[in-house]
Amino acid sequence: MASKTPIIGVTGGIASGKSTVARAFARLGIPWVDADDTAREVVEPGEPALAEIAARYGQRVLQADGRLDRRALREIVFAAPEERRWLESVTHPRIRERLVERLAAFRRGEAPYALLVSPLLFESGQAALVDRRLVIDVPESVQIARTARRDDVDEAQARAIVAAQMPREERLQRADDVIDNAGDEAGLAEQVAALDRRYRALAGLPGSR
Ligand code: ATP
Repeated sequence: MASKTPIIGVTGGIASGKSTVARAFARLGIPWVDADDTAREVVEPGEPALAEIAARYGQRVLQADGRLDRRALREIVFAAPEERRWLESVTHPRIRERLVERLAAFRRGEAPYALLVSPLLFESGQAALVDRRLVIDVPESVQIARTARRDDVDEAQARAIVAAQMPREERLQRADDVIDNAGDEAGLAEQVAALDRRYRALAGLPGSR
């Protein structure tokens, strides 16, 4: 591999455990950037993307303090594919630009490898930015139960969100590595530790223990 610090893309459906996995890697000293955080950054006040969104939809997508009203924007694009595409054309290139900068900094840095955590790794083309793709896999029933519990939505709502996402099989087909997160957090930590050893070896560095 040409670059010094391999980048591992981490993805999975809603409530599959991406953040939990990222925290487990972070405990082993691995840095990460979250595409969701970056997506929020590019629409902060003062950012050109927010100005474009406000110019298209007006005050109804802004809160009193000038910040984006995400719920209002979500309602507009939810049932309007054309609006969703427009919004993505405004935000995605900017998200990608920032991610590219962050990943370049990781590649110049001292970490043995680094993570890009992104729910839309495959859908957004961000998979091309990483060296390996790690899918966090859980059966849909587990996803639905964990979403309902965490987000305080009912099962039907959770089921609808899962159904709107990339099918589990398609995600798995694109994976280089898979974590099975149907079990408990101890099982998850063991899988993360095993992958950590492999990823350190990828970077040509000695294992963690
Ligand atoms: P999203 O994409 O929706 O932000 P995510 O993929 O980052 O979600 P997490 O937030 O890490 O998922 O996990 C979803 C929920 O499931 C959380 O409440 C988390 O505590 C719980 N969870 C994750 N892994 C496990 C596990 N192995 N056992 C039990 N609960 C878990």
